[in-house]
Amino acid sequence: MTPKNTQNIVIIGGGFGGLSAAVRLQANGYNVTVLEKRNQLGGRAGLIERKGFRFDTGPTIITPPSVVEDIFLEAGRDPQDYVELVSIHPHYRLHYADGTHFDIGTFEEVAQQIQQLSPNDLKGYQKWLEILEPIYKLGFEKFANTPFDSLWSMAKIVPSAIRLKSYKSVYGLVASYMKNEKLRMAFSFVPLFIGGNPFTTTSVYSLIAYLENKYGMLWVRGGTHRFVEALEKLYLELGGTIKLNSEVTKIEVDEKDRRVTGVFTASGDHFPTNIVISNADVAMTYMKLIDKRFRRKNTDRRFKKANFSMSLFMVYFGTKKKYPDMPHHNVIFGPRYKELIKDIFDRHILPDDFSIYLHVPTRTDPELAPPGCETFYACVPVTHQDSGIDWEEMKEPFKNRILQYLNDHYLPDLLNNLEVCEVFTPQDFEKELNAYKGNAFQLQPLMTQSGWFRPHNRSRDIKGLYIVGAGTHPGAGVPSVLLSGKITSEIIFSDYGKPSIE
Ligand SMILES: Cc1cc2nc3c(=O)[nH]c(=O)nc-3n(C[C@H](O)[C@H](O)[C@H](O)COP(=O)(O)OP(=O)(O)OC[C@H]3O[C@@H](n4cnc5c(N)ncnc54)[C@H](O)[C@@H]3O)c2cc1C
Repeated sequence: MTPKNTQNIVIIGGGFGGLSAAVRLQANGYNVTVLEKRNQLGGRAGLIERKGFRFDTGPTIITPPSVVEDIFLEAGRDPQDYVELVSIHPHYRLHYADGTHFDIGTFEEVAQQIQQLSPNDLKGYQKWLEILEPIYKLGFEKFANTPFDSLWSMAKIVPSAIRLKSYKSVYGLVASYMKNEKLRMAFSFVPLFIGGNPFTTTSVYSLIAYLENKYGMLWVRGGTHRFVEALEKLYLELGGTIKLNSEVTKIEVDEKDRRVTGVFTASGDHFPTNIVISNADVAMTYMKLIDKRFRRKNTDRRFKKANFSMSLFMVYFGTKKKYPDMPHHNVIFGPRYKELIKDIFDRHILPDDFSIYLHVPTRTDPELAPPGCETFYACVPVTHQDSGIDWEEMKEPFKNRILQYLNDHYLPDLLNNLEVCEVFTPQDFEKELNAYKGNAFQLQPLMTQSGWFRPHNRSRDIKGLYIVGAGTHPGAGVPSVLLSGKITSEIIFSDYGKPSIE
């Protein structure tokens, strides 16, 4: 039976994945409604405002610029009228536990530091850079842009993947080129930015280093949430509808046809439609919103068995003092690397040590804090909720440990200069963002959970159901999530056409 209600689309969730799809579909003639659980759009890219401090809650690095510009161009707009992208230098500073640091910047700057630190590794670094370009071409230009709806489409890329050593992990690839452990850490930790374990994530994800090298580290002037606001503005200009505080509690499916017929929200409202796109957590979409009897592929068992990314413990804090020596992006390694990663990903425990990504946006945009003040966030990778940790109990002592560590090693007199401080725990990921096990990045980027093996953009269980966001192809991280919105929209155009040109 031909579905009738295919001009109206409901999108569950207003993160970057949902917004990317919403803009593209609305621009092509569909009537799109975004139902967002929270009182703001952006999801992980949210905003906290306290006493004149403005905190981005999540992503702070965006690259390449084309993924941002593309959305505005597709809607016939000039991206520069909506967002300004600026380049950050150094890209980031890596702080080692022995008190030394290493700046990731241009090729020449990095090479100069390697010359000082471990001259025998210079050749290996150059060779590693050379292999990154074909990896990027395979991983980003080919893999990320292909809608893997058949196993054959995946099989086609296997020979190139083997040739480029995708069977190695990101760490394994780096280690085959460089011996110095500090360099191995410097060039292998990037999968953590998308929820991957550097020791098990396929080396295809080394392409992140290539993107950073080629396009630089881009920052949205005014903070990443400005990009969310820009997408919201564009979407509303196109005539789209947004309903905040509207948690979807059920996706309604026709018994006979196994087709979506609408969604229900927590307040009991019913939105009839034959096309639903879920930007909510993929495991929760299937396990909580859709009755078991309609699910043959996306069963509870599938998600219970899957490897989910780690969670994060976030501390957002503002100081009445400036720390001008701290660059915009900092990675503060703890004393252990591999063993700490094992505690987080395999042992599911909270050890005494930690590593921190320290974000200091006021280095670039001073207006994100009151005059003379500084805005920070400390992002600490921690195990997901398989740990059984009671974060209500742990959050205060763990926050204090992090702040004390920063006070003692990096931000002198921090504790006497705190103006505001907010915490977001794995339990908050679970409750606020409906993230399965409190994951921060959905399914880990393992080969066995990528491409065709990841939950598909077009549901294989239910007609009219599509998925966008970090849980589907191509995966987590702002560029991939924006691309998922593009891939899913294109699948919908091929399934139902473009109302604007009918
Ligand atoms: C601290 C942090 C730092 C990061 N840094 C970077 C970075 O620098 N660069 C980068 O590229 N990536 C980064 N990432 C990853 C990136 O932010 C995410 O992969 C991406 O934003 C996820 O977007 P999404 O659309 O998949 O999901 P989300 O942003 O989670 O959006 C999903 C939305 O769905 C809503 N929702 C859930 N369930 C329901 C329901 N039942 N009904 C209605 N609404 C619902 C949620 O409230 C949420 O708004 C970071 C992530 C975190 C957490």
